[in-house]
Amino acid sequence: MVAGVVSPVSAVRPIGEWQPTACVLCACNCGIEVQVAEGNLARIKGDKAHPGSQGYACEKAQRLAYYQSNPRILAPMRRRPDGSYEEVDWDVAIAEVAAGLAGVRDAHGGASIFYYGGGGQGNHLGGVYARALRSALGMRFASNALAQEKTGEFWIDAHLFGHVTHTTPDFERAQVAVFVGKNPWMAHGFSHARPTLKAVAGDPDRTLIVIDPRRSETAAMADIHLQVRPGGDAFLLAALLAVLVQEDLLDHVFLDERTENADEVIGAVRDVDVAEYARRAGIGVELVRTAARRIGNASSVSILEDLGIQQAPHSTLNSYLEKLLWALTGNFARPGCTNLHTQFAPGGLVGRSRESRRRTPGTGERVIGGMFPAASIPEAVLSDDPARFRGAIIESSNPVHSLPDSPRMRETMAALHFSVVIDITMTETASCASYVLPALTQYEKYECTFFNFEFPRNVFHLRAPVLPSPDGPLAEPEIHRRLVRALGALTDEDLGGLDAAAKQGLDVYAAAFAERMTARPHLTGLAPIVLYETLGPALPDGARAAAALWGMAQMCAAGYSDSVRRAGFEGDGVALGNALFEAVLRERRGFVFSADDHEVNWEWIRRARPSGRIDLAISELLEELVSLEDEHETVDPDFPFVLSAGERRTNTAMTLIRDPAWRKRDPLGALRMSPQDARALELIDGELVTLTTRRGSCTTPVEITETMRAGHVSLPNGYGLTYGADGPVTGVATNELTESSRRDPIAGTPWHKNVPARIVRASS
Ligand code: SF4
Repeated sequence: MVAGVVSPVSAVRPIGEWQPTACVLCACNCGIEVQVAEGNLARIKGDKAHPGSQGYACEKAQRLAYYQSNPRILAPMRRRPDGSYEEVDWDVAIAEVAAGLAGVRDAHGGASIFYYGGGGQGNHLGGVYARALRSALGMRFASNALAQEKTGEFWIDAHLFGHVTHTTPDFERAQVAVFVGKNPWMAHGFSHARPTLKAVAGDPDRTLIVIDPRRSETAAMADIHLQVRPGGDAFLLAALLAVLVQEDLLDHVFLDERTENADEVIGAVRDVDVAEYARRAGIGVELVRTAARRIGNASSVSILEDLGIQQAPHSTLNSYLEKLLWALTGNFARPGCTNLHTQFAPGGLVGRSRESRRRTPGTGERVIGGMFPAASIPEAVLSDDPARFRGAIIESSNPVHSLPDSPRMRETMAALHFSVVIDITMTETASCASYVLPALTQYEKYECTFFNFEFPRNVFHLRAPVLPSPDGPLAEPEIHRRLVRALGALTDEDLGGLDAAAKQGLDVYAAAFAERMTARPHLTGLAPIVLYETLGPALPDGARAAAALWGMAQMCAAGYSDSVRRAGFEGDGVALGNALFEAVLRERRGFVFSADDHEVNWEWIRRARPSGRIDLAISELLEELVSLEDEHETVDPDFPFVLSAGERRTNTAMTLIRDPAWRKRDPLGALRMSPQDARALELIDGELVTLTTRRGSCTTPVEITETMRAGHVSLPNGYGLTYGADGPVTGVATNELTESSRRDPIAGTPWHKNVPARIVRASS
């Protein structure tokens, strides 16, 4: 049964107290307060007491009731041979899913099952507990949406700093703010994006620079908009660097004292023909020089890149060149500049080596930050390699819709011997799975985000449920617990007296836990479920799902002890971790878990690289940079347009909201096109066109707008979703049009922002 539940906000009557929680529609996870009525969020406002967002929330948060009213799956579903689904009870589902996964493992090895997802925007606890399930099955490969966006950037950072880490900008204090392929007015990406943008744009002593082929909302505010040719980012970034080098706008003291191999980089860009590269980027050379001089002469510069360059040709090179802009000018580890930051979940991204020695079966793709390229999944399943993937666990993600080439992803799902999807609704991916296990929404359970990217004060927020949970769905930690138990990977005997120790407090529990892990090393991989089963029941207010956070609090306190102490926590070793965990449980509006000064950046670099210096030279990418000289723009006459597939607009929220009624404007997600192109095609605003790529075709209305360059068109993300069993599908599912083979040679990030296309009037 797939049930539509809960009417949207207009029909509900607000009652009850304001309760703290967070918006889940983007990675910022702004703190909000909500009032609840009739099983849904009825009133929503920014939470001024949230230490990160401090009351800020954009207009999207007001529409969160539509996330909660997604059509729900209320019972586990089993696929019949004819492709339809039938309900089964939980005991049957768990037994059969465990048997299905074990069958694949026993026949082909645990490495033949891949894990996808475990995240979403703040739905992160499931991914933690899934690690135990992955361990129980001997799984070795995982991927998620980050591996079609950010892994190239991670790969660069790992080289620069010695291990995979993550940087954060400081736009509130920056004299010059630069956005590269990023529209923070719509896509945020940092706290208080809109007030910060207004502050920079409104201050004559500060400069806002935007690199974007589209005159986005942010670009329209900018002092300098470099409206780059789609696909020309690498030329533009190389030209900017060349101006810095040729006009000696470098920070030589920083380069001498804080970096290695700067000469190699300087040598690679010194001879770049700035005028020619600016021409190939489609921008006047004087504007390029002006932008570079602003960057080179500023007292502080912060730069943020996003999908506009990460999902475009030369994507990993683009990330490298972007980082060289702040590195060559010494805009690091200072107020208003790029900084590293702590992470509450240090076992996540931070601390991993640049890339694993593992390669994916059949495709030989790199594993970066623990993730293989998501776009390579079809090849890794449909290959003839005996070690190919044959099973999948997919959680809180919708790869059939969100990865390139949806038709091939459906073929991929059909080729798997066994697959299980854990989600709140019957997504496009769930509709292809062997089993679907229903989960609770983020407002019906304990949940948190590990996107804790702030510096110098970083914030963590455990959110308590604000809505009653319906009968049927379970929180992901409980689903993973049941599967681990059904696999026989964990027994009562394994757990010994840990539950009794938990009742005696965290100090006693910590000692008992450490002893147990030493005595039974096979439990290490199962630790999240061990914590859930033993510490979980002793936690207050039913916060059992928070148990795994105790382990993370311990790791965070051990890895960042000084930072945690500066945030006001006391103790040494386990006691410090316990103090941190107690705050996790106590501070329901979030809290500052680490506080730093800028010098700490160098201490963190020294952990991985004893020299404490940033290594600027990446030989593979310097070669690619030099080879740009021989690359010239070519346009396929059959596909003369460049489609950006997946623009973030005010009425898009990935696939988190399915009800098309949530959009008051742009209901079909129009194709944005320049007036020049519209004139050439003799189109009027709102007219239907047929857009065709090498992979597919769609019909869509056009929106004629001066914001687009000639030859560049754009479709939004998050459209083309099914809504209920027989509901309408509105707008274009962009990945019906994209190709998985057009992707970065290093990180495998697909080029969604650069899809060759042709367009004709629909009637023709
Ligand atoms: S910035 Fe992101 S998290 Fe904050 S309210 Fe807007 S959509 Fe929600």
